[in-house]
Amino acid sequence: MDLLEDLGINLEKFENDHYDYDWFKRHGLGGAVYMDAKTWGKDHVIPADLGGMAPVMPGLEEGSQDFKSLFAKTPMPEKAKKELTKLYEEDGARDIIKKIDELDFNFDRYPYEKFLRTYWHIREQATLDFIRKLPTDENGVGAESLSLSEGIESGLPGTIKIGRFYRMTKKPDPEDAGYVHHFPDGNAGFCRTIVRAMIPEVAPGEGAESVVLAKFDYEALDDPENDTRIRLNSTVIAAKHDGPVDDADTVSVTYIHDGKAYGVKAKGVVMACWNMIIPHIVPELPDDQKEALASNVKIPYIFANVMIKNWQAIKKSGIGAAYCPTSYYHLLQTEYPVNMGGYTATEDPNDPMPITLIRVPVPEERGMEPRDQFREGRNEIISLEFADFEAEVNAQLDGMFGPFGFQSNRDIEAITLNRWSHGYSYTYFNLFDKGMTFDDGPHITAREPFGLITIANSDSGANSWLDVGVMQGLRAVNELLEDD
Ligand SMILES: Cc1cc2nc3c(=O)[nH]c(=O)nc-3n(C[C@H](O)[C@H](O)[C@H](O)COP(=O)(O)OP(=O)(O)OC[C@H]3O[C@@H](n4cnc5c(N)ncnc54)[C@H](O)[C@@H]3O)c2cc1C
Repeated sequence: MDLLEDLGINLEKFENDHYDYDWFKRHGLGGAVYMDAKTWGKDHVIPADLGGMAPVMPGLEEGSQDFKSLFAKTPMPEKAKKELTKLYEEDGARDIIKKIDELDFNFDRYPYEKFLRTYWHIREQATLDFIRKLPTDENGVGAESLSLSEGIESGLPGTIKIGRFYRMTKKPDPEDAGYVHHFPDGNAGFCRTIVRAMIPEVAPGEGAESVVLAKFDYEALDDPENDTRIRLNSTVIAAKHDGPVDDADTVSVTYIHDGKAYGVKAKGVVMACWNMIIPHIVPELPDDQKEALASNVKIPYIFANVMIKNWQAIKKSGIGAAYCPTSYYHLLQTEYPVNMGGYTATEDPNDPMPITLIRVPVPEERGMEPRDQFREGRNEIISLEFADFEAEVNAQLDGMFGPFGFQSNRDIEAITLNRWSHGYSYTYFNLFDKGMTFDDGPHITAREPFGLITIANSDSGANSWLDVGVMQGLRAVNELLEDD
C-alpha cells in the first residue's frame, strides 16, 4: 500500500471516479454465449452470461437466469441441454451435500469432471465440451484438468452452492468494488508510474492520472546523470560471480545489445526474468535450484486486440462480452469502461472501440500433464502466422456481429496480436502437483539467494498476479541489502 501511495495510485479513485459501472447498462450490453456456424451449421448467440464474465467486468448485464429457455436456444443435443440446465440451476445441490458430507471427501484430490459424472450424473460429452473452456482464462487448462476445489474456486457449474456450503467461497459482496482497478493500458500503466518515480525526467506530472497519456522520453531512461538507469533491448546472457561465490565482491554480467556483447560489473544482481531461463544465464547455480527453476513452465496466451471503426453492430447485438466454447478465441470482451487522465471510454457507437479476443491454446488431447499442455500450446503459437490469427478474428467477428451489420473487411481498422508464449506463471494443480503448495513448492528452492545474485519475478511466488511480482521484487532487493 505504501508503494501505491508513493506512486500516486489511489485505488478508491478507480472505484469512485475512473471505472464507469453504468457503462454496460447504459448501452444495453450484457454477457452472451456464441456458438459458431463452423461447428454448429449456423451461428447462434445466446443472450446471457453463461460464461461467468460479469465478475471480471463489473456492471456487465447478466441477462436471464431461466437456464432451461436459454439452453433451449442452443444447437446442442437435447440431453446435453437438460444436463447443462441442471448444472446451472444446481437444484440438486442439497442432496449432493448430504451424500458427500457422509464421506471423508477430499475436494483437492477429487477431479471436477468425475464429480459431475458421479454426483450430477452427467453422461453427455457435449455437456463437458460446453464447460471445458470456462476456466482456461484463469487457469490455463480445461475443466478436465481441475480438482473439485479448483472448480469451486473458478465458479464452475455444479459447484457454486457446494462451495458456499463448505465456506470455500462467499456470496458476492455488493460492497466489494470488484475487478475495477484498471489503467486504460492495463498493467503497463502501473509500470509507467514506477519508471517515472525512479526517473522523473522521463515524463512530466505526478500521480497515476498524469501518466496515462504522457509521452515518455526514452532518451532519459539511460542517462548517466541519473541514479537509476534502464537499458532497453539488452538481453542478458550470463551472470557469473568474479571468484568463488562466497567470497566474490562483484558479478560479471554479459548482455547483447544491437548484436554486440557488452559486460558490466555489479555489486549485486536481481534476476527479474522468467525462472526457467535463469539456469542458462547462471549455470553455476546448484543443480537442485536449477531443476526447481526449470519446473516453472509458463502458461501461453493469445490476445487479439481489435480496433473497430465503430461499434454500432456491437450495440445492436447487445453483446458486451461473450463465452465462445467452440470458437478459436474462447472469450470476447469489449473495452473496459475506464475514464482516466484524459482517456475516456467511448460513448458514441459511431466512434472506434478496441475489443479483445482471447485464446488460451489448450490442446485437443485431454488429460495431459499441465506443463506439457503449455509446451504444446506454445508450439501452436509459434507455428501460426499473423494471417492465421487474423482470419480467425475476421470469421469470429463476422459470425457474431455480421447479422447486426458488421463486416470485418470494412470495419476493422487494425489488429494488435499479443502472443505470449510465456504468459502466466505456473501455479500448482491439485491433480498433478501433489504435495506442492505455495508454502513448500519448488518455487521456494528456486528463489534461494545465490551469493550476490537474488531472484525476483512473479514465478518466485508461483502466481501470475502483478502484486505477486512486485512483492517478490521487494523480497529479492531486500535480500541483497541484508547481505550488504
Ligand atoms: C496476458 C496476461 C494478462 C495478465 N493480466 C493480469 C491482470 O489482469 N492482473 C494482474 O495482476 N496480473 C496480470 N498478469 C500478470 C502480470 O502481468 C505479471 O504478474 C507481471 O508482469 C509479473 O511481473 P514480473 O516483473 O515478475 O515479470 P515480467 O513482467 O514477466 O517481466 C520480466 C522481464 O524480464 C525481461 N527479460 C527476460 N529475460 C531477460 C534477459 N535475459 N535479459 C533481460 N531481460 C529479460 C522480459 O523482457 C520482461 O520485461 C497478466 C499476464 C499476462 C501474460
